[in-house]
Amino acid sequence: MVEQSHLFLDDTYLLSIDTRFESRALGSDRVSIIPADNIVHAQGGGQPSDDVTVNDVPAEVVKEAGRVALLVPADRAHGFIDEHRVTIRVDRDTRLRHAALHTFGHIIANVLDEHGWFAKKANHFPSEARIEFTRKDPSNMTDWSDIEDDVKSRLSQVLSQRLPVHVRQDKKTSFVQVGDLPEFPCAGTHVRDTGCLATYEIISTKIKKGVLKVRYDAKHTE
Ligand SMILES: [Zn+2]
Repeated sequence: MVEQSHLFLDDTYLLSIDTRFESRALGSDRVSIIPADNIVHAQGGGQPSDDVTVNDVPAEVVKEAGRVALLVPADRAHGFIDEHRVTIRVDRDTRLRHAALHTFGHIIANVLDEHGWFAKKANHFPSEARIEFTRKDPSNMTDWSDIEDDVKSRLSQVLSQRLPVHVRQDKKTSFVQVGDLPEFPCAGTHVRDTGCLATYEIISTKIKKGVLKVRYDAKHTE
């Protein structure tokens, strides 16, 4: 069984690779390709999967027993299934969009944490990105209007600094840190530094039953 290394964790911008792989038939219709050197993010942690091709054949991205597998139609895999290597490509625009959203999501969580809110759930999908927060101290009755100006100016301050985004591996867990803000365990993709965010925006906020929902958007530079 091929040992899979997840290169996307360290390098968001590695968009194609020639790699050894393992394959397995899924019924008569599809073949599962498991790359040894993996540059593909599979949906998880609130982030969608990448758009991917294997030898130019569009693939569905899934997880199989903790490994990333790329499913291709069997009739289109005939050409390469007996080869030793395949070329995997990740769509650049989708990758960068997801990385921008995910990174800005972390920064929002960092800043809200400074204001007494704990991020408990996140969705970093384009057009529906949002994070849900609960109060770290339930007796704290602070409303969004009390912190809005401070949060927005802190976000501008953080994002004006071109902070590097660090990734470190500790055993099997990957931790992500923006500048010297507190790190998060995270296995998504992130921008190289905050200067890569071309635009960012808090779209709306709402507090209901003690849960603060923050909808947001962010785009990577071209
Ligand atoms: Zn992340």
